[in-house]
Amino acid sequence: MLTLQAPYLLRPACYVDGRWIAAESGKALEVRNPATGAVLAAVPDCGAAETRQAIAAAEAALPAWRAKTAAERGSILRRWAELLREHQQDLAVLMTSEQGKPLAEARGEINYAAAFFDWFAEEGKRAYGDVIPSPQADKRLLVIKQPIGVCAAITPWNFPAAMITRKLGPAMAAGCTLVLKPAEQTPLTALALAELGERAGVPAGVFNVVTGDPVAIGGELTASPVVRKLSFTGSTEVGKLLMRQCAATLKKLSLELGGNAPFIVFDDADLDEAVEGALASKYRNSGQTCVCANRFLVQAGVYDAFARKLAEKVASLRVGNGLDADVNQGPLIDEAAVCKVEELVADALSGGAKAIGGGGRHELGGTFYKPTVLTDVLPSMRVAREEIFGPVAPLFRFQDEAEAVQMANDTEYGLAAYFYARDIGRVWRVAEALEYGMVGINTGMVSTEVAPFGGVKSSGLGREGSRYGLDEYMELKYLSMGGI
Ligand code: ADP
Repeated sequence: MLTLQAPYLLRPACYVDGRWIAAESGKALEVRNPATGAVLAAVPDCGAAETRQAIAAAEAALPAWRAKTAAERGSILRRWAELLREHQQDLAVLMTSEQGKPLAEARGEINYAAAFFDWFAEEGKRAYGDVIPSPQADKRLLVIKQPIGVCAAITPWNFPAAMITRKLGPAMAAGCTLVLKPAEQTPLTALALAELGERAGVPAGVFNVVTGDPVAIGGELTASPVVRKLSFTGSTEVGKLLMRQCAATLKKLSLELGGNAPFIVFDDADLDEAVEGALASKYRNSGQTCVCANRFLVQAGVYDAFARKLAEKVASLRVGNGLDADVNQGPLIDEAAVCKVEELVADALSGGAKAIGGGGRHELGGTFYKPTVLTDVLPSMRVAREEIFGPVAPLFRFQDEAEAVQMANDTEYGLAAYFYARDIGRVWRVAEALEYGMVGINTGMVSTEVAPFGGVKSSGLGREGSRYGLDEYMELKYLSMGGI
């Protein structure tokens, strides 16, 4: 079972107004380990009533929090980041236990999560305004930035810590308060974060966590006129639903939704580097990230060599319980996820694709799936259009640059894209032609707290991280001063 050096990190209760509460109904939801099926804990199955309490707490905490200086808010965030790092091992064990990712990845995510607190602790001090040269001699025009107010965040299970701090860091740095609904699969990491927030000195009501029924909690968060902003990371389908629900109160929205990332390998690429990038981009978190390469587009001249090298590397990946040393491929999050991957692979194989590695469930059973490479994949197959969210790399063939760009953009999504090429003219042309919010050029990893993360088209609205991320939690106010 779960053994932590700091047992206080296991907090199976909601955190509202600085208090740990149960659901009014007394009901609880089990949290399971996807690697073993074992029940880890049960968290409160809350709904609209507890969400209203949390919103009221966030509203009550707002005036004092926004009145603090940015430096005061920043020092609490920095202390919180330090506590995350001090408890890195425990938090990683908790995360791997509820989410499945290998321990090394979980430890990396804790660092990444802490980095958002550190970054925004400083960035909050730079929420500069502006002075606009006035067209009238007796007037002065200024722009100031102010916190939006009470915010809501709904987060997914694939990054149980970092998707929270990427929203909470800028919200709190800006002077906002927040109500979080974490994913039902991974609430324990979120509640451990809240425990450390309390220890870091976050005042009651500034950060609240409500676990339970997504529809009831989401309904209350989106309907409340007190909540001025919603930040959501998850599926495009739910993102669109929440956007509709927010229309009545016209909330500000940040939406980080699905992707269908192309990973293009041109014939002038360094193939070994491209294979390394492909592994990092495709198989991290067993393919369960929204920036995972979903379609490998490989130029005809290097197609066979790339396929062979990739399959060789993929064969050496070790599948198993993420808590075991040397495992770099954990289980998928649940049975539904494996079924989706199975369906997509079956569709490709029935249309003539070939599995040159993996191609089915892993012998370990449960929700383990073999890291897979598919060749001879065609744009008409489902893997070309749908987000796989599993360890499957489908390889499509293209002839020239124009065809690659056309194929890459032929999707409703526009989150991350990757390409490998060395010709400098091609690098610029392709980088500019890709209709994506983020482009990795000769790299399979783009995520960092210092750069803007986000997509275009059906991949969402807004940017997280970087200096742009703070603006998502601030309003501009224009002051026109006359009579001078
Ligand atoms: P995934 O398929 O990755 O689980 P979802 O979009 O279903 O993606 O889930 C992302 C987050 O959205 C989770 O916290 C989930 O509980 C929440 N969610 C799902 N459906 C709703 C809903 N109808 N209203 C509010 N939140 C929802």
